[in-house]
Amino acid sequence: ATQIVLASRPKGSPTLENFRTETATLPAMKDGEFLVRVIWLSLDPYMRGRMDDAKSYAKAVEIGGVMEGGTVAEVMESKHEGFPVGKIVAGAFGWTSHAISNGEGVRIVDPGIAPISTAQGVLGMPGITAWVGLNDIGRAKDGETIVVSAATGAVGGMVGQLAKTKNMRVIGVAGGADKCDYAVKELGYDVCLDHRALDAKALTQAIADAAPNGVDVYFESVGGKTLEAVLPNMNTFGRIAVCGMISWYSGQGIAEAQPLPAVWRNILTRRLLVEGFIIFDHFEKFPDFMAKVGPLVGDGRITFKEDIAEGLENAPQAFLDMLGGGNFGKQMVRVGTD
Ligand code: NDP
Repeated sequence: ATQIVLASRPKGSPTLENFRTETATLPAMKDGEFLVRVIWLSLDPYMRGRMDDAKSYAKAVEIGGVMEGGTVAEVMESKHEGFPVGKIVAGAFGWTSHAISNGEGVRIVDPGIAPISTAQGVLGMPGITAWVGLNDIGRAKDGETIVVSAATGAVGGMVGQLAKTKNMRVIGVAGGADKCDYAVKELGYDVCLDHRALDAKALTQAIADAAPNGVDVYFESVGGKTLEAVLPNMNTFGRIAVCGMISWYSGQGIAEAQPLPAVWRNILTRRLLVEGFIIFDHFEKFPDFMAKVGPLVGDGRITFKEDIAEGLENAPQAFLDMLGGGNFGKQMVRVGTD
């Protein structure tokens, strides 16, 4: 198998030197196992966290270990009755061309619902993150106003569209005019603000203008300037679903961030409910998510965009680009033919 391993831990922003491509011989397949060839690898911001040796909700990737990642794959050989040859499966096989699995954490994908790559996108981890974050964590109600950060990304693009199905006023924040244009024209956002074109003060005012009744829910994925601009616009008893803080993942901007007392005061005086969540705690809701959202994706009521890098060898560069906002839509890598 061709694999990409963690060569060294990044100091600040990761670079290509932190990755290495290797050829590995897979162990012989045992009873109860199956061999897959990977077709799609998903690149996600959480992988930045796995590169650090810091204590977190998940273990770090070891130096020399295969980079973690969600994949869509085809079963090539099988000694497991639940996973016959030819089945398409979704599992965390990592940045690799092939893998052997015992089926733990692997699910069979129905290629009839939507393109199989969506099993790691709108109908996979990012999709359910959007759905749980909006409904259970953000407690979004019909007619309310929501701000969605990273508005056109894998998670954000789904949050915005789901919020529209609840007749909410939906305000996106995204990087660049093209992304904002897409958010409004294709995803149905009422307004989309370009965080690259506005400083914190201007962004605060632009959100105030876009939300005449204030903001009830903030779907937080980025931290930084966007968070600072949303906070003073939150309504009393508003909710913040803390999904991510990508602008701070590699340490930039932390020293200039708003002091904690100002943030704390905002939470107190506005009686905000701020709740962090990690989607792994909510995977028991996956069947319910598929039953409700699968048909919306299947018949095109919910749309999605993928940014595709060609070949496993290009995964590191695509990953670095994504961390800086270079992806337009869900970042995927085509590892094998569909
Ligand atoms: P995206 O497809 O949204 O890609 C990341 C996006 O982040 C970029 O395209 C860019 O969008 C934005 N971004 C990067 N740097 C900055 C910055 N400095 N300021 C503002 N925006 C920035 O990724 P995902 O949808 O996969 O993930 C979105 C967030 O959700 C991440 O924070 C991720 O960690 C989190 N997440 C959390 C989960 C959980 O369980 N809690 C599960 C899945 C994801 P733009 O160009 O528009 O700025």
